[in-house]
Amino acid sequence: MGQATGYFTHKQCWKHEMGAGHPECPERLDAIEDRLLISGLDIALERREPTPASIADLELAHTRMHLASLRGLSDQLRDDMAAGGPSHMHVDPDTAINSHSWDAILLAAGAAIDATDAVMAGELANAFCAVRPPGHHATRDKAMGFCFVNNVAVAAKYALERHGLQRVAIVDFDVHHGNGTEDIVAGDDRILMCSFYQHPFYPLGEHSTASNLCNLPVPAYTKGMAIRELVDMVWLPRLEEHRPQMVFVSAGFDAHREDDMAQMGLVEQDYVWITERIKEVAQRHAKGRIVSCLEGGYALSALGRSVEAHVRVLAGV
Ligand SMILES: [Zn+2]
Repeated sequence: MGQATGYFTHKQCWKHEMGAGHPECPERLDAIEDRLLISGLDIALERREPTPASIADLELAHTRMHLASLRGLSDQLRDDMAAGGPSHMHVDPDTAINSHSWDAILLAAGAAIDATDAVMAGELANAFCAVRPPGHHATRDKAMGFCFVNNVAVAAKYALERHGLQRVAIVDFDVHHGNGTEDIVAGDDRILMCSFYQHPFYPLGEHSTASNLCNLPVPAYTKGMAIRELVDMVWLPRLEEHRPQMVFVSAGFDAHREDDMAQMGLVEQDYVWITERIKEVAQRHAKGRIVSCLEGGYALSALGRSVEAHVRVLAGV
């Protein structure tokens, strides 16, 4: 009981796509699946199919208006397509929906929620959600930066509200600032958010100074050793002090040195190291409970290898 690592994904997450040549593409999930198969790691994982998130659960992190507007856009796109219109509708210059996006959005958040339930129930030791669309740029009321609904923020709020936890942590190691997560959790002292991100970089804008945020902007070309030092000196003491009863991870792999979406220098071993530290915190305070959700990572080979490295630590194999 409680030994396996869950692996949540759904076919519908492949069907959401934002147009030819878009870096946040379905092939990202293929790169991950291929690597898990080739490495044999898939055998150690318990594969599960998520159910769609309910609107009531999404409203833990988002406004009713935002969700209604996404739903409405999706309905409108389907109507337009039936009348011969285009197959995509943009919500910002980088972010678009197709006719499958709404279902994928509900399943991506549903994966984070179902993983939370299974880990809380002790059915799974921890879980990784290989889902698209990603979530950490989605604010309470806005889709942006390839994100529509904030999967990790929804799950963190869900753990607090529906499972009665008092303290959780969100660790975000994507190369971009999780502005959406920050927007949703800033000022909620039950949630400690720890992140590093390339700065100045997308998304530019005001950063909150709320005391429950432990955000570390780092310059371009920062390498893994510098990140490890920051994690040791800044994240870990804050996490120890917070004593999270569950740890959520915004697992973006675009800080990899092969990923030219950004200019940072992490490699697989850095993801191993960071995941080990997260796991130690979870083991000390949270009965090992971790739910990790895919965010960025656009160099397909590096993404596959990095997810393998991350999940291998979660699974302890
Ligand atoms: Zn990113």
